[in-house]
Amino acid sequence: MKPNAGAHAFGSAPAIIMDPPQVALADAQLFARRAARLRELVIRVPALDEYLAFMARLVQAQHLALSEHEPSWRPQPGAFDQALAHGLPPLGHVALRRDLDWRADLQAILASLELHVGQRQRPLLDQLRQLPQAQLEALAEAALDGRAAEPALRGVQPLVAAALQVAWVRLALQLPRAPARPGGEARGLCPCCGSAPVVSVVHNEQHRSGVRYLHCGLCSTQWHLERLRCSLCGEGGKLRYLALDDEDGKPFLPVQAEACGDCGGYRKLVSRDLDGHAEALADDLASLALDLALGEGGEYARGGFNPLLVIGD
Ligand SMILES: [Zn+2]
Ligand SMILES: [Zn+2]
Repeated sequence: MKPNAGAHAFGSAPAIIMDPPQVALADAQLFARRAARLRELVIRVPALDEYLAFMARLVQAQHLALSEHEPSWRPQPGAFDQALAHGLPPLGHVALRRDLDWRADLQAILASLELHVGQRQRPLLDQLRQLPQAQLEALAEAALDGRAAEPALRGVQPLVAAALQVAWVRLALQLPRAPARPGGEARGLCPCCGSAPVVSVVHNEQHRSGVRYLHCGLCSTQWHLERLRCSLCGEGGKLRYLALDDEDGKPFLPVQAEACGDCGGYRKLVSRDLDGHAEALADDLASLALDLALGEGGEYARGGFNPLLVIGD
C-alpha cells in the first residue's frame, strides 16, 4: 500500500485500496524480460558469468521460438472454458504432455543457439541432437514431474525444459481468462498447469506492491500466497529469512531463502521491491551460491524445482 496521503483529524484512510489480482498469467514478453535480466546478472555475478550468459542465450532463443511459431496443436474450442468453469487446471501438465508439440520448439531453440554458443556448450547441443526418441521423452517426463533426469542426461535437461516452457506459455497466452486462485491443499500447485512453483516473488508495481506470488516453473503463471507463511507446508511459526551479503554487508542479490523450521524446507523469495529488475527464474539461477550455502549447512532442503537449473535429486 502507498503511504497515506489523505490523513485528517479523524485518522487516516488508505490513499489507495489495493485489489491485487489473485492469479496473473504470463505475457508474450516474459522470455525477453528474463533474458534481459540474465544479461544484467552476467555482470553482477562474475563467478557465474559464462553460465548465466549461456542461459541468457537460451532464454532469448525461447523468446524467438515463442514469437515465431504457431502452435501445431490446439485444444477443442470451449475446452479452456469448461476446465475453468470446473476449477480444473486448463493446461494440466499430465493431461497435455502427449499432445503439445514441444519438439518443434526444441528444434527452433537448438537452431538459434547453434549460431551463438561457444565451444564449451556445443557438445551439449550435439548430445541432444543424437539422443534416441525414448530418452528425449524420458527427459521431458522428468522435467514435467519436477525431478532431475539420470546423471548422464542432466546437462541437456534444461534445454528440453526450455522447450516445454515455450509450448506451455504459448497456450497460456491463449487462455480467455486467468483461473481462480487455488485453495486448501492445492494452493501450492499452479492453477493453470498443475506444476509446482519454483520461487515466490514480492512485487513492486502499484497495483500489487508488496504482494507475494508463487511463480510456476512451466507456464509462468503467478498466484497469490499470503506472506509470512511457508509456501511448502503452510505453517508460519518458525520462518527464518536467510540471504548472502556482499563484501560491503549489502544484500548480494534481492533473493532470500524463506526457511521453515516446521517442515525443514526452504523456497527462495525474490524481492522486486528491493530491485525492480529482479525476475523469478533468472534471479534464482544467479543466486546459486545461496543454495550451496544452505546445502552445506544441511539444516534446510530446497523446495522448488527450477527446470532450468538441474543440480541433483
Ligand atoms: Zn503453470
Ligand atoms: Zn514449512
